[in-house]
Amino acid sequence: MIWLLAGLAQAADLEQVRIFIGDDHARVLLLTDAPVNGASARTTPAKNGVPARGTVLLPETTLDNALMQAYARDGDRFTIPVGDGGVERVVLADLEGNVQVGVEMTASRELTVTPVGSSGLLLDLKAPGAIPDSSLPDAEMLEAWIDGVSLARKGEGVSKERRIVVIDAGHGGHDPGASGCTGTHEADIALQLSKKVAKELEKRLDVEVVLTRDTDVFIPLGDRAAIANAVDADLFVSIHANAAPGPTAWGITTFYMDTASDSGAARVARRENALVAESEMPMDALIAELSVAGTNRLSGDLAALVQTNVITELQGVYGEEQIRDLGVQTALFYVLVSTRMPAILYEASFLTHPEDEMRLRQPLFQEMSATGIVDGIEAYFQAQDQGG
Ligand SMILES: [Zn+2]
Repeated sequence: MIWLLAGLAQAADLEQVRIFIGDDHARVLLLTDAPVNGASARTTPAKNGVPARGTVLLPETTLDNALMQAYARDGDRFTIPVGDGGVERVVLADLEGNVQVGVEMTASRELTVTPVGSSGLLLDLKAPGAIPDSSLPDAEMLEAWIDGVSLARKGEGVSKERRIVVIDAGHGGHDPGASGCTGTHEADIALQLSKKVAKELEKRLDVEVVLTRDTDVFIPLGDRAAIANAVDADLFVSIHANAAPGPTAWGITTFYMDTASDSGAARVARRENALVAESEMPMDALIAELSVAGTNRLSGDLAALVQTNVITELQGVYGEEQIRDLGVQTALFYVLVSTRMPAILYEASFLTHPEDEMRLRQPLFQEMSATGIVDGIEAYFQAQDQGG
């Protein structure tokens, strides 16, 4: 079967691939930065050990750099593992100016391709005779999301001269966040630390810094991500202080977004998500799926660099016994869910641990933490510049 889709002639970049798995039905959204002219699609049954496939060819299209960095490379092919709902994996191939998207399946499926918005293509892969799965995001939802992306892309109109880093001080205003042993508010520590990070970033790196807040004011979680998307930020760093039910937990952690994978991470996510209205939650799952694939690995890289550098800086001053490295962890944080750039959430130490709390209040601890965070961001940009 072959479809030809009309569009405007213009070289395009394939920027994002989103995969949604339902019952006997999968949807794959391909998002390009410009309309693709003359995309064609076909299906091939399993044969001689080669799995059943749905293939879409995007002429005069290339793979976006960030997309290539996000997935495992094998020659000119990039693999997105799926292993769910009859879809084994999605393989992206850069064929000298044309992009081929292959969806490998456990059994043959019917493939239809529908344009979504001005620069999206929606692939529907349905088992023969299956009814469409209504739990999958529909074209209208995806179109709304794509429009948001386009808005962010158009953001300032012209290409940026400098990288933009958004520093997000957690909580604020009527939301003080966690409370420390002696009453320290997380919102205050987050703001103090964020300002130090912003100052050091501007001093040391050639970047534009945007603070989501620089006073004790309440900003809804959704607005924080929206700010980063609107300015087309390169990085989003949310700064918090941790808390636990008892006084024994202590140490420093950097999170990046993933589905909550252990109970500890799930707990932090619940606490930091506490101000999200129930009514917002069903949509979150969709946005999470939409957001996670493209920037996940880069967020993980950034988290690792920040965590390592902070621990090195702080242990250099305080000694290894006083600075506990809890490493990089993943969780599903609302504030990271809707950001469209690599994003991390830094938990500076535990306010519920007496010594951690004491250190969190010290200007020296805050300075050295800020230095470590900026070291990590600097190393991340250096790796980017070297194409790593
Ligand atoms: Zn917090």
